[in-house]
Amino acid sequence: MIRALMEESLVLLKPDCLEGRKCGEVLKRFEEAGFAVFGVKMMRLSDEILRDHYAHLTELPFFPEIQGFMQSSPVVAIALRGENAIVRIREMVGPTDSTVAEKGTLRGDFGQDKMRNVVHASDSIENGQAELKRFFADGELFG
Ligand code: ADP
Repeated sequence: MIRALMEESLVLLKPDCLEGRKCGEVLKRFEEAGFAVFGVKMMRLSDEILRDHYAHLTELPFFPEIQGFMQSSPVVAIALRGENAIVRIREMVGPTDSTVAEKGTLRGDFGQDKMRNVVHASDSIENGQAELKRFFADGELFG
């Protein structure tokens, strides 16, 4: 039997998630799917952390709009661990554009558009590790 890989992902609950009071529902879905929380914190995103996190988007014309949205309130950063976490969490989240995301996905159920799409989730094992390091200091992750 092939052993499933334990993987780690950064999930961010974006400002629209907090505004819509969906934090509990989102976390409930991840926990019920078998993922374990090993770090959580609420934080305001600085220009610097946002530019690093969205380095692949900074040259796009709508980057200032994304920045404004992501800094419109604090976000909640969550470290999740579980089997095949990267792909399975991204499946639960749905595609970037909430308007085409299937019902049953987080973005399909709670997202509004391409920008206001409820959550961020790491898209590879490597990015998961880099993002957890970016958002959590030593001592803020457990187990
Ligand atoms: P994902 O979050 O699905 O991995 P990206 O890494 O491409 O997607 O984009 C990061 C975030 O930037 C998106 O989640 C969304 O909030 C915002 N974004 C991406 N593309 C657009 C767009 N065309 N218009 C508005 N916002 C966008």
